[in-house]
Amino acid sequence: MKKVDYHLHSYFSADSQENPRTHILEALKYGLDEICFTEHRDFYFPDMAFDLDVPAYFQELSALQAEFSGQIMVKIGLEIGLDLRFKQEIEDFVSNSAYDFVIGSVHEINDIEVYDDTSYYTNKSKKQAHLEYLEAVLACVQNFDCFNALGHLDYVARYGPYADKFIQFDEFSELIHQILQVLSDKNKALEVNTRLFQYPETQKFYQFLIETYKNCGGKWITLGTDSHLAKRDWISWTLAQNLIKSSGFTELALFSKMQVENIL
Ligand SMILES: [Zn+2]
Ligand SMILES: [Zn+2]
Repeated sequence: MKKVDYHLHSYFSADSQENPRTHILEALKYGLDEICFTEHRDFYFPDMAFDLDVPAYFQELSALQAEFSGQIMVKIGLEIGLDLRFKQEIEDFVSNSAYDFVIGSVHEINDIEVYDDTSYYTNKSKKQAHLEYLEAVLACVQNFDCFNALGHLDYVARYGPYADKFIQFDEFSELIHQILQVLSDKNKALEVNTRLFQYPETQKFYQFLIETYKNCGGKWITLGTDSHLAKRDWISWTLAQNLIKSSGFTELALFSKMQVENIL
């Protein structure tokens, strides 16, 4: 299995200060074969403008690809915030540039960020908050095609004022099954996001996702740390890679110009 990281952010994302070169040097230090930058673009985000300077991004990354050619494969990707109110704008934005790989992620629902210190969780039970998030994801994967992998299905577990923030996946198994069936039917990849992988609950959640996706006929798994810094939790990365292997996937999906490269 190739050693890759297919979800990371540099200073081209509004919430990261990291130099992309530093990311590449860190990846080389840990012997990675390939990394894909997936900078943010969200069309509605109340507290921060998640815009992306696409020409500058491609110019700088293309120079880095050339500089590190032969040492590590560097891909130019995107993490697009999925929001049905901006369907046309989102589709146009993605198709206007030649990204290697696009993650589709749900970050906000009806103008409310699913993030720290927001009203998203106010007057809601944890079950209701998690249900609304998963329902929004289902609607997005059903209606969008301009992405390669679904990002961090456990995003809602990062935040929320609950003592136990993790998704009780047995309560939502039918809904999660529907999401994964749509991904499989559309030949989209499932992302294993290592952001919360230090927690056994997260490992169990992703084990359930990978097995269910596989049973749905899903073929493509991507692995991403979602790191906004070059320094990252390599223990979580290793745990995730081992989990993917033990779930019966021998290779991670790799993409070029939004097409899967792997030959099965
Ligand atoms: Zn995200
Ligand atoms: Zn991200």
